[in-house]
Amino acid sequence: MQQNPYGEDPVRLIVDLAAVPPRSPEEFADRCVKAGMAIDRPVGEADLAELLAFIPRWLAVVDAETPRQRAAELNELLTMSSSHPRLTDHADGGWHIHYRDDDLGLAGVVRAVVSVGTALHLTGRGMDRLSRCALAECGRAYGDFTRAGRQRYCSHACANRDAVRRFRARRAERSG
Ligand SMILES: [Zn+2]
Ligand SMILES: [Zn+2]
Repeated sequence: MQQNPYGEDPVRLIVDLAAVPPRSPEEFADRCVKAGMAIDRPVGEADLAELLAFIPRWLAVVDAETPRQRAAELNELLTMSSSHPRLTDHADGGWHIHYRDDDLGLAGVVRAVVSVGTALHLTGRGMDRLSRCALAECGRAYGDFTRAGRQRYCSHACANRDAVRRFRARRAERSG
């Protein structure tokens, strides 16, 4: 996965992994490949365990209550997970920047890509562009990539479900 300037793909990847964590190393690898990552070494239980430990750390960035707290949480992830930038042209992808060491397993790569991607997303689009779905029984984390930046739900499905519920509540009030 090449990091675009706004970190959108890595944020989408971690939103997906956090919503439904993979149950096996194979599933973890599959989902990363579908997200556009190149896998260049075997993926094992240690990678899965490392990812499952990382997800709550990333969710702490989502749940931070102020921009300053959000920055502090993310700075910790960057310290733990990323390294000095370097140019690379592995995997025939053309020259691009890695913010990590060369010899990491999949979980290490995901941690680096997601930490840097989240930093690009928040600084590029706004520090408030991570949140939890407003539908009470969902509560999934999402990244807001919209132009206006007023997204409140993780998906159209949740937005629709809440709209139907509010409509029914109003109708019940009128007829009650
Ligand atoms: Zn690369
Ligand atoms: Zn939702």
